[in-house]
Amino acid sequence: MSISVRNITKIYGNQKALNNVSLEINDKEVVGLLGPNGAGKSTLMKIITCFIPPTEGTVKVCGNDIFDDPMAVRASIGYLTEHNPLYLDMYVREFLVFIAGLYKIKDRKIRVEEMIEITGLKKEVNKKIGALSKGYRQRVGLAQALIHNPKVLILDEPTTGLDPNQLAEIRSLIKEIGKEKTVVLSTHIMQEVEAVCSRAIIINSGRVVADDDTKHLASGQSLEAIFRKITTEQ
Ligand code: ADP
Repeated sequence: MSISVRNITKIYGNQKALNNVSLEINDKEVVGLLGPNGAGKSTLMKIITCFIPPTEGTVKVCGNDIFDDPMAVRASIGYLTEHNPLYLDMYVREFLVFIAGLYKIKDRKIRVEEMIEITGLKKEVNKKIGALSKGYRQRVGLAQALIHNPKVLILDEPTTGLDPNQLAEIRSLIKEIGKEKTVVLSTHIMQEVEAVCSRAIIINSGRVVADDDTKHLASGQSLEAIFRKITTEQ
């Protein structure tokens, strides 16, 4: 088991963002967390990655508990946050060498070149990050998330704001990465889950309302029907 979420509730002030969420994600699954804005997707990802604690419940990632061993959890996860904060004044290679240093990676120059290759950054590697298109910035974000070779990759709305070409490229890159790693991505677009994921977990108002193979998305009483109902009720 790669990720085990048990009875997670998160309350911000007087708002319940997650309400008793439990789910299990297997090794090398590519799972889409699908839900409208405000459903609780980012909150769940922030808890899994140890950025914020839950109010109740716990999570294990690769067998390590977020409370008992948060450092081991962080080491096993690569995380691309929703707004992908990057140092815009740094050059692509310089930034990745800096990130590799934070992770104390041995042979960091070799690893940085590998990441540039894997994420297709070669063409733009001599530019400052601030000069890159949104699609290439996402590639830099993916490279920083993968540089320490984590088993699990968590991607919060990884394709938001991309044009159709960039969208297709980033989706196929995520699919490629998903052959080797457990990937959890969030989105409010059902087609994204269909295109990239083998499993969809629909979240609405802080609860898991459906969880199924994406093969079943197009069929009658399906995830699609559930998702449409949620989004039209909004
Ligand atoms: P999603 O990622 O699905 O759009 P979020 O997890 O960001 O949803 O948010 C779930 C709910 O929790 C929303 O109603 C949001 O306004 C609320 N929320 C998120 N973060 C905070 C916070 N730091 N303080 C108060 N409320 C928050």
